[in-house]
This record gives sequence, C-alpha cells and structure tokens, in this order.
Amino acid sequence: NQQVIFKDYVNGFPKESDMPLKTSTTISLKLPQGSNGVLVKNLYLSCDPYMRGRMSKTQGSYFEPFTPGSPITGLGVAKVVDSGHSNFKKGDLVWGGTGWEQYTIITTPQTLFKIQDTDVPLSYYTGILGMPGMTAYYGFYEICAPKKGEYVFVSSASGAVGQLVGQFAKLTGCYVVGTAGTNEKVELLKNKFGYDEAFNYKEEQDLDAALKRYFPEGIDIYFENVGGKMLEAVLLNMRVNGRISACGMISQYNLNQEEGVRNLSSIIMKRLHIKGFIVSDHFNLLPKYMEMVIPLIKERKICYIEDIVEGLESAPAALVGLFSGKNVGKQVVVVARE
Ligand code: NDP
Repeated sequence: NQQVIFKDYVNGFPKESDMPLKTSTTISLKLPQGSNGVLVKNLYLSCDPYMRGRMSKTQGSYFEPFTPGSPITGLGVAKVVDSGHSNFKKGDLVWGGTGWEQYTIITTPQTLFKIQDTDVPLSYYTGILGMPGMTAYYGFYEICAPKKGEYVFVSSASGAVGQLVGQFAKLTGCYVVGTAGTNEKVELLKNKFGYDEAFNYKEEQDLDAALKRYFPEGIDIYFENVGGKMLEAVLLNMRVNGRISACGMISQYNLNQEEGVRNLSSIIMKRLHIKGFIVSDHFNLLPKYMEMVIPLIKERKICYIEDIVEGLESAPAALVGLFSGKNVGKQVVVVARE
C-alpha cells in the first residue's frame, strides 16, 4: 500500500519533503473480522487549501491537525472493496474523507456520500460535484443572495471554487469581474468561464485603482477567497448594503501572523453584510445543489476545468502548488481510474 505520509508540523510554506512517500508491505483486501467500516480503493484525491491548516499543530484550521507519521487525509473519490456497513456494498462508488494512499479503511462510513450519477467524470466529485462545488453554491446563493444586474467580484477566480462562482453569477444575470495570478488564468476567466472582465492582481501596483477601473459604481457582492491586501482594497470599493461571502483567505495561510486588514470601518459605514462559513456545516443542501448543477453540466451550461496529475507520488507537489498558484482549475490527483 503506497502512502503519502505527513512528516511533521509545518512552519511557513509547506514543501514536498514534508510529505514523503512510503510503501508498506502487504495490502489485505478484506476488512478485519467484525469491523463495521468500509475498505476502499482510492481513485481520485483532492488537493485543497484548508489542508495547510491541518499541517499546523494549533494554528487556524477548523479540522483536526494531521498526525505526524500517518498518511495525509483529505477528500477523495473511492470504490468500496469490502464493507461491514449495511449502507455500502462492494463496488459502490463514494466520495468523502479518505487517506492519501492506495487503500484506506474508513471507520466512519456514515460520513461518506454515495455517488449516484456516473455519466459525468468521476473526478468531478472532488470539485464541481463535491466540496468546492457546494462551497461556491452556498457561499454565492445562500450568503450573497444575488440579484440580476448586481456587480460581483471574485478573487482566486479561476480555481476550484472561483470558476463556479463566476459562472453562477453570470447565470443570475450579474456583471462579474474576476482576478487571478497569471495571464493564462485571466484569459480563461474571460474566454471560458464567461467573466465580463478579469485582471492579473500581480500586475497591478494599486489594487484600489484597479477595482475602481472595473467597478466605477462599486461592488455589490464580493466572494472572498484570498484576504489580505485584496480585502483591504475591496472594502473601499463596496457599495452600501453590499454582501461579502468570507470563504477563504489563502494569502494568509502560510504566515506566522496574519497581515492586518485595514478599512474595516467600511463594514459599518456601508452597512455591509460579511459572513463567514464552513461548507461542511451545510452539506444538508447537497441534494438541492446536485439537482441544480447536474442538469447544467449535462446541458453544457456550465463548464469545469481540472488540473489533473497522475500518481500518489505527484500529490505532495500538487498540494504545495496551490500556494503559489501553480494549479489551473481544480487540483486533482489520480491514484487509479477504476
Ligand atoms: P484554488 O483552486 O483557487 O487554488 C488556490 C489558488 O489560490 C491558487 O491557484 C492561487 O491562484 C491562489 N493563491 C495562492 N496564494 C495566493 C496569495 N498569496 N494571494 C492571492 N491568491 C493566492 O482553491 P479552492 O478554489 O479550492 O479554494 C479557494 C478558497 O476557498 C481558499 O481560500 C480556500 O481555503 C477556500 N475554501 C473555503 C471553504 C469553506 O468551507 N469556507 C471550502 C473550500 C474552499 P492565483 O494564480 O490566482 O494566485
């Protein structure tokens, strides 16, 4: 059983060497006698920014820290090989929490979601049909309550979550501008995801001026994925009664101390609604989201870009790459295709 091991708690930016590969001797394809868990073969693993928080002993994650010396854990798509749980049988496809290894015993199978629709790419259950999709859905529709004609700004706009927020905003009839860190991503925003405008934040000297260029009348809705200097600039450009969906602040995740965000008084003066959320608190809405999004995929009214790397050995670099913007679209690791 090949595994990616979490070596030890990380300070600053994570490195590939924090996640060495290990091959353990034998794999038993049977659960231990009496187990009510499931044994799965991992197919697709998801690389997600929140995993950085789990690499710190105390700092900032809403989930437990990883255990040094044990395999990394995260979300993925897997096939049931053996089951001691009445809800699952051999051959079922599932997505949910699993390990960065070829085979995993999941002792809490009630946390897994059974995959019903298989005529879409299975890897989508790490992205548009999984946690990032729900994040875009909940954060945009439920928190921002968007209305036709409103001005929407999205940061990390071509990523796993952002590419969907932009498309949802267009489907709602909003004017939407996105920002990303390379010109290639900016082109995707405009030509693939239908953003009205897009810019490369790394090429802007003055983010406030950039936002004023694209939003001369201000921003109604900000979908926040990055925090830091971008948030400071956005606050100055929000309209009265604007809404901010505080989804993530990736620019802060590798810093020992978060950088101060100024302009917070705008929240009061402009009566802003700024609401943080953790998507896993809202998975009860998953069926409602699936009902909306699966037809959109099948009718090609929405598209989804993935950045797929092959093999467990590629997983550490893929995860590290999220923090320098190496990924173009949802970062997925293929362990096996069936
Ligand atoms: P992405 O696919 O968007 O990948 C991360 C991207 O972040 C990179 O590609 C890079 O793009 C950008 N980035 C990295 N460092 C910085 C930086 N210093 N400043 C600005 N941008 C940076 O990831 P996801 O779509 O999966 O996640 C997006 C955000 O949503 C994250 O903040 C994540 O933590 C959050 N999230 C929150 C959830 C919740 O429940 N609240 C659930 C899921 C995600 P670029 O080239 O543009 O710099």
